[in-house]
Amino acid sequence: METPSFMSKQYNMHLDFSLALGASFTKWMQALKEKKILGNTCPKCKRVFVPAKPFCEICFEELKDWVETDGTGVVESFTVTYQKFRNCPEPPYVVGIIRIGNAGTCMTHWIGGLDYKHPDEIPEKIKIGMKVEPVWKEERVGDPLDILYFKPVA
Ligand SMILES: [Zn+2]
Repeated sequence: METPSFMSKQYNMHLDFSLALGASFTKWMQALKEKKILGNTCPKCKRVFVPAKPFCEICFEELKDWVETDGTGVVESFTVTYQKFRNCPEPPYVVGIIRIGNAGTCMTHWIGGLDYKHPDEIPEKIKIGMKVEPVWKEERVGDPLDILYFKPVA
């Protein structure tokens, strides 16, 4: 069987753009300034959304009821990155899919607070279901990166 060959080209893109956040995501982001991770709840299916959304994509109900979580979550999935990438931490670093509280959705963020000196050991240090908590920046502006990273709960 012949091995297929493909052309490869390198492109460099630099995109600067603004995004209209809408009322729900604006409220969610503003709460981050106060070290609060909010969620909003669907009145029909009762699912909690973290980060907040304007409507439930299953029921199409508007999400007007807000809840304040304690900020802790569990790691649902993660990946270890060994390559440098623009606007990301120095490798190796870990990107986690984190479920905050009893949310029906997850958020993506860094997982830190672990010894990454031996990169090959990282996957053994992070477990699915591991409880994590946010480590906040001293000065917050209302942005998901007001959370430096999530660390394992001691
Ligand atoms: Zn719903």
